[in-house]
Amino acid sequence: MPTSSYKQPRRGSLLAPFDPWKSKLCTCPFKLSLNPYTGCTFKCLYCYATAYIGLKDSIPKKDFLKRLKREAARWPPHVPINIGTSSDPYPPEEVHYKLTRQALEYLVPMGRKILITTKGTLYATRDLDILSKGNVAVTPTITMLDPMLSMQLEPNAPLPEKRIHAVKMASSAGVPVGVRIDPIIPYVNDDPYMLEELVDRVADAGAVFIVTSTYKARPDNLARIRRMLGSLGERIYNLYKSSGIRVEGYLYLPKNEREKLLKPVIKAASRRGLQYAHCREGFKGREWFNAPSCDGTHLIPNRVKPVGPRLDTWIR
Ligand code: SF4
Repeated sequence: MPTSSYKQPRRGSLLAPFDPWKSKLCTCPFKLSLNPYTGCTFKCLYCYATAYIGLKDSIPKKDFLKRLKREAARWPPHVPINIGTSSDPYPPEEVHYKLTRQALEYLVPMGRKILITTKGTLYATRDLDILSKGNVAVTPTITMLDPMLSMQLEPNAPLPEKRIHAVKMASSAGVPVGVRIDPIIPYVNDDPYMLEELVDRVADAGAVFIVTSTYKARPDNLARIRRMLGSLGERIYNLYKSSGIRVEGYLYLPKNEREKLLKPVIKAASRRGLQYAHCREGFKGREWFNAPSCDGTHLIPNRVKPVGPRLDTWIR
């Protein structure tokens, strides 16, 4: 069904077609985004979303569940819902507000297809009871193994070891897991041995798919990296300013540089027999992309038969 057949969501909708900045390089299948919070307490230096939502703590969305119930009825159940595309769905605030949990308790029994993207670990320590029963896959982000570097770069997010442990818990409970090694930032987390070790660790923990991507600079995140990482930040800033190529509002490194950054991840994933893909790099061929989707939607299992409103209410 062409995506143009769907009703256009209203401004400010909770559920809206995922269309990251209308990128021509985005290869994601048609899906909806759902963000229970706005802002993000994890405050990663490289965050792409801050250009749109600002650098603030996670704030729960008003009347979240009521609005979700109303809006979910407008979309057919086979369209995947990606939770956490622009604000992490498992920030520390989730322990108290439980908005992500409420969304899962509502959507999972309806057989909705759900993909969760997060740097949190609460999906594994609290929500496996529901995730393991539903049409749900998770794609946590783990960018490095070094805890000190992670604390600098992703100051409020759980440390890498905790995220790896969460992968193990989820995969042991039967929840399909792909890992996002994204972004790879030159001079920061680009050590080839470290990247290969990271792939090995998540493969040992049960991940079956890897998606990776190089850092694409935007004015606000590049300025943050420059300000917060001292001389290292200055090197990154100079590299992107001198050799960055403007692509759709981002500074991309030249193709050969990006290939060099991604190669260790792809090589290790291939060696471990994992599916792999890249995100918005534009590289073609099985040597770069051997998975059925770039975002992990193909991992979503069919455990619950979908229920939903009549087809004619979904189509214009
Ligand atoms: S977890 Fe994601 S949304 Fe939150 S600050 Fe980090 S990159 Fe941004």
